[in-house]
Amino acid sequence: MPSIQTNFDEHMVAALLDIQPDSIVWYVPVFSSEQQIVDFTINYCNEAACKFLNSTASEVLGTRLLSSAFRQALNKEEAFKQCLQVWNTGQTQEFNFYSAVLNKFFNVQRTKVLDGVLSVIRDQTNTTLIEQEKQKHAERYNSILNASLNGIIALQCIRNAENAIEDFMVTEANDSGFRKNGLQPDAIGKSLLQLDTGFISKKYFDLCKDVVNSGKPIRKEIPVEIDGELFYFLVSWSKLDDGVVINVADITQSKNYEATIKLQANQLQSILDASIDPICAMRALKNEAGEIIDLVFVMVNKNFTDRGTTRKEDHIGKRYLDLYPQAKTVGLFDILKKVILTGTPFRSDFLNSVSTPPKWFALSATRYSDEGVLLIYSDITEAKNSKKELEDAARRLQNIINTAKIGITLIKPFYEENELIDFKIDLANNIMSEQSGFATELIKEELIGNLLPAYKRKGIFDVFKDTLLTGKTNSIKLFYDEDRLNGWFHITCTKLEDDIVVTINDFTALKKSIDEQEHLKQLNEFKDEFLSIASHELKTPLTSVKAYLQLADRNESLSDENRIYIQKAITNVSKLERLIADLLDATKINSGQIVYSESVFTCKNLVEESVDIIRKGYHSRNIIVSDTSEVLIKGDKVRLEQVLCNVLSNAVKYSSKDVMVYTECDGMMVRVFVQDYGIGITEEDRTHLFNRFYRANRSSMKFPGLGLGLYISSQIIKDHKGTITVESEPGKGSVFCIQLPVA
Ligand code: ADP
Repeated sequence: MPSIQTNFDEHMVAALLDIQPDSIVWYVPVFSSEQQIVDFTINYCNEAACKFLNSTASEVLGTRLLSSAFRQALNKEEAFKQCLQVWNTGQTQEFNFYSAVLNKFFNVQRTKVLDGVLSVIRDQTNTTLIEQEKQKHAERYNSILNASLNGIIALQCIRNAENAIEDFMVTEANDSGFRKNGLQPDAIGKSLLQLDTGFISKKYFDLCKDVVNSGKPIRKEIPVEIDGELFYFLVSWSKLDDGVVINVADITQSKNYEATIKLQANQLQSILDASIDPICAMRALKNEAGEIIDLVFVMVNKNFTDRGTTRKEDHIGKRYLDLYPQAKTVGLFDILKKVILTGTPFRSDFLNSVSTPPKWFALSATRYSDEGVLLIYSDITEAKNSKKELEDAARRLQNIINTAKIGITLIKPFYEENELIDFKIDLANNIMSEQSGFATELIKEELIGNLLPAYKRKGIFDVFKDTLLTGKTNSIKLFYDEDRLNGWFHITCTKLEDDIVVTINDFTALKKSIDEQEHLKQLNEFKDEFLSIASHELKTPLTSVKAYLQLADRNESLSDENRIYIQKAITNVSKLERLIADLLDATKINSGQIVYSESVFTCKNLVEESVDIIRKGYHSRNIIVSDTSEVLIKGDKVRLEQVLCNVLSNAVKYSSKDVMVYTECDGMMVRVFVQDYGIGITEEDRTHLFNRFYRANRSSMKFPGLGLGLYISSQIIKDHKGTITVESEPGKGSVFCIQLPVA
């Protein structure tokens, strides 16, 4: 039986203590010989203590604390120290400890009782765990609150005797709540009216009251200027028990983003509106089976609506097929559906023949954000038309090139290891291929060196190269008689960007005719030279023949018959003399050797003397001279007489009737007319009359002459700055007019 020294009934106390749930142990100190406490002996323990020590009462009683072999439920040294402290001080002390062996929390209360220490050990595991859990929970709650960027403050109503709200008391706040409201750490427990800072201010007192009274939360976006900078807060007040929870969220950034996004959206819209192309964005509208049944307008630009004379608002949110049902019939809806489903963009040109004039559009559809399609129409009428014009121009150019009588080709430089080694034919016209003897399709893309191996040797390559390097237009004429060619070619090359335009003119035929002309000219010159020499050589002996004949004529002893012969001989020599003189004059005209000796004489004098010469020559002829002008003429009188005599002799020669001579003067020019009524001259002949050796119609062939008289006359008159013209009618006669300037 456990025993205790007491005046009370031991059994009753023991029974009382045994029913206690706490372990109760009474320690009595053990003294050394020096009266020092060295240990404690267990003098009493109740049943709970026996259980705690996992022993029986008889085993426990009398055992010493430090040397006991009990399980290490509690730290013996620690317990010894505590008991010693309590024994020495006489003060009750409480300790908490955790037993790792029992995995339990205990509370020990040690009190000095009589001459020992009474320890009451209470198992506090449950309350401790609950307490710990509560603690943890609170910590977690606080850390969540503190982690929140929103400022959270809880206020509790302070009510007066009439239960009316007089003020609010801050009961809780997270870090952000403190910061955002300018609260000091000691704000907890203080009142709203007293603090008057941030949203814990008098300004919001009524609002808080309303929230508590109505139970309805309030949300407000409140701009606040802090240090000159504008902040936006989203503040909410909600009722919590008999108070309010204020939640303050800083939305400055998102507000700014929102403004930026709004601005960007506006800018994007203005950009889209500025586009001349109609643009729209639509999103797919699906049925329950996930099939696209229509599209809904999300965005349209100004030109899109302008086109349809509808407003932007009439499109946004509206169905595509409702507004444009024809999109389904023309297949456009299916195309757009495909673009959304496959993500493959669609682009095509189409002609809107309904508009006047018909317009070409390029339609481009692109998928955007998975379920949308962006549609752009570009008016490409102008581009289409100019493309057509360009094609027409190119065709016309090709035709021109092809109809050109010269070979035209475009060549490109051909390099090997950075060295220009040849030229390649890029384009050639028909003539070019005819000239080269190769078909157009064969010479295209072919190296000239392959087609015409001799072209380098003949220096053509160097000419091309020079044009390529210097940009100069070069031209060469050469005779090419190799590579199946045989002829004269005129090659010109001009740089055109990186290419060279080459024109090739085969002038073999031209060269031949030029050569022939050259040859003829030479022969003519030989002939003139011969005539000049021959007439000169003939003139001298003829003059002496004539002189001898005239001498013979003067011989009075001549028989009449011989005289007639001699006079005929003289007449013929005279004719011969004139012919030779004409020939000589003609050669002189050709070589510009006629020399004039000038004098002034009257027109009358010129006419009369010329008529006299003719009258002498053609005795039987009747030349009637009327009204001759006395006006003065300046020139070579002998040469002008030669002209007048020629015209008069022709009039006499080609007519059997009278010849009329008359003059006319207008003060500036004097005109001498010689009119006959003879065979006349045809229109065709009149055009060639003044040419060298020209003799008119066959009828005139019966008359002697070389066809040089009028040629020489016209030259003499020209040299006197006058003119000689003729009017005539075949069979009726002719009028020759010699016009000369008055001196
Ligand atoms: P020709 O010596 O042949 O007369 P011309 O040069 O004087 O040479 O005249 C050239 C040609 O013009 C003549 O051959 C002749 O056919 C024609 N002719 C010139 N004068 C007359 C004329 N008065 N009537 C008809 N034909 C004329």
